[in-house]
Amino acid sequence: MNFDSFKFEASLQEGLDAMGFDKPTPVQEKAIPIILEGKDIIACAQTGTGKTAAFILPVLNKIAKSGGNTLNTLVLAPTRELAIQIDQQIQGFAYFLGISSIPIYGGGDGLVWEQQKRALEEGAEIVVATPGRLIALLAGGKIKLDSLQHLILDEADRMLDMGFSDDLLTIVNYLPKDRQTILFSATMPPKIRSFSKKLLKDPEEVTLSVGKTAEGVTQGAYLVHDPQKEDLVRHILRQKEYEAVIIFASTKDKVKSLYKVLKKDFEVEAFHSDLEQVEREQIMSRFKNRSLKILIGTDIISRGIDVVGIELVINFDTPNDPEDYVHRVGRTARADSKGEAITFVNDKDRYKFNRIEALIGMEVEKLALPDGYPQGPSYSNSSSNKKQSTTPKKGGKSNEKPKGNFVKSTHSEKPARKPRQNPQEALVVRDPENPDTPSGFKPRQNPKVDKSPEFQEQPKTSKFGSRKNVID
Ligand code: ADP
Ligand code: MG
Repeated sequence: MNFDSFKFEASLQEGLDAMGFDKPTPVQEKAIPIILEGKDIIACAQTGTGKTAAFILPVLNKIAKSGGNTLNTLVLAPTRELAIQIDQQIQGFAYFLGISSIPIYGGGDGLVWEQQKRALEEGAEIVVATPGRLIALLAGGKIKLDSLQHLILDEADRMLDMGFSDDLLTIVNYLPKDRQTILFSATMPPKIRSFSKKLLKDPEEVTLSVGKTAEGVTQGAYLVHDPQKEDLVRHILRQKEYEAVIIFASTKDKVKSLYKVLKKDFEVEAFHSDLEQVEREQIMSRFKNRSLKILIGTDIISRGIDVVGIELVINFDTPNDPEDYVHRVGRTARADSKGEAITFVNDKDRYKFNRIEALIGMEVEKLALPDGYPQGPSYSNSSSNKKQSTTPKKGGKSNEKPKGNFVKSTHSEKPARKPRQNPQEALVVRDPENPDTPSGFKPRQNPKVDKSPEFQEQPKTSKFGSRKNVID
């Protein structure tokens, strides 16, 4: 099917043509007609499947038809980077429509707000905001949403994980009851379903293969001991002239220390919450235009941020949450391109990797460490109870030299299985200095634990690594 089938207004179709969009993705094909009909919707599809256009296009079409000039659409997104990115996509599609949009987020200086205020006064139709900042403006009477017709929640799972649920409910109190509510999420944990009951009216549901990593990604894992990891990253980066690489580490401190090591040999930048907003934007824009090729960061960059053509994602640490794995790996191979994802798994992380393999429904190939490396930890896939070699079977030598970095992932026969989940599990992300932080923020008691928003490792409550819910 082509976009023509939706019979969009001519100037919206023109915008689509200009952006090179030809065929809708599956989530677009399913969600667009429902949104055009004016129904509430919950849509769930993996990262990189075109969810932004799935909600933006039909809403733009409706605004174009009814004539704009009043603020009628609010898009809520978990981070400022994502808010900015959505706003940019809207501006692209709406180029020939005369519909305007503004991003509203915290962390900027007074000047930024002055610009945002002016844009509001000039009559933008769409606001893309982070919840924390918007609440402050609503409470101060600086923004009015009485005429709102569409409320869109993007990355709803992420917003709940970050503890924004109360803020979202507060925001909804400022909105007219008679509106269309659109909720998009990359995953559909039970908490999304129960939360959506509070906001949506009789929603239609669209769900597409949750928990699967994008098909074009070649995935592999190295079983390594922590002291080998830095060397191994260097080794991998030297294998090929990569144009775009993201390295994920679990904490801000690890990001910083890896950065110190790598910057001696490579042009890299570290992306974390200690940076000023301007610095974050500069790094992102250098990364997008490829003048910066390697970015090290925490999960702050794992969701939503769309940089096309990431060739390689390295998980310096195995993600705690299997869904975070899907999001991180989703940075590569977006919209049908190809990519590689390599995960480092140390002895303590093996069970986490089991859970990841269970979620994605396949066994990820275990790569042989390069020559001269001491042998890493062994691996057995407890979920299938099947012994697995840590290295490619051929030759059976543990230090067999890999060809390039890679490797094809082996698909197992068994169906995707959801790992055990603690129903109370809530990923809590807080930062007192960060205005995009949930209003229910309470500083943690444990001084040993990093408080930065992207530091998501909470003390484990079980061997399955569920997190402690500390927000309420
Ligand atoms: P998601 O929100 O599901 O993670 P995005 O909306 O960020 O995914 O889209 C991922 C990438 O795919 C973006 O670069 C976007 O421009 C591109 N894209 C989305 N839909 C299409 C389409 N129908 N045709 C071509 N490219 C598309
Ligand atoms: Mg998205």
